[in-house]
Amino acid sequence: MHNQVLERISKAGVKTVKFDTGMGGGTPLYTSCDYAAALSGLSRDATAWIIYAYSNTTDPKSFNYLALQLARVAMSVCDNVSHDFSVRIAKLAMEEHVRGFCQCKGKGCEKCLDTGVLIFSGRLRASVLRLPKTTYFNNRHDYDFIIKILHLILSGYERDAVINITRFLS
Ligand SMILES: [Zn+2]
Repeated sequence: MHNQVLERISKAGVKTVKFDTGMGGGTPLYTSCDYAAALSGLSRDATAWIIYAYSNTTDPKSFNYLALQLARVAMSVCDNVSHDFSVRIAKLAMEEHVRGFCQCKGKGCEKCLDTGVLIFSGRLRASVLRLPKTTYFNNRHDYDFIIKILHLILSGYERDAVINITRFLS
């Protein structure tokens, strides 16, 4: 899987990939060559996330693969969620995560429920999860907790990618 992915990226040509390192002071830009090199050292899950969130190629395979991985995490955190629901919650976290940083710039605040990410409103979350609003709000503590963990995992993948890229460039 890894090699196919790298091959695909190199075929994509010299497109730039943006990584926000969360350290402030501008967004570094990397070319697809740097990108391919950085990905070669990443875990399969981290690679899938970076491909989905940061490459210019649309890759539903990466999205679906990672949704299943994160769904497993969701199910291990909360044992009363169904498989289908855990996949929905995983996709929700992924969709929120690509929206970028909250005003707190990733530090975590009340507005982003300490995720550091620009999260959806409660109403939109309920709708994405296909829950009645009241069900969402009555159990929001549990849902928010699961989603927060998924955001932490995704942030970890991004950190790994940035570390790899930085190592490659230095
Ligand atoms: Zn925030």
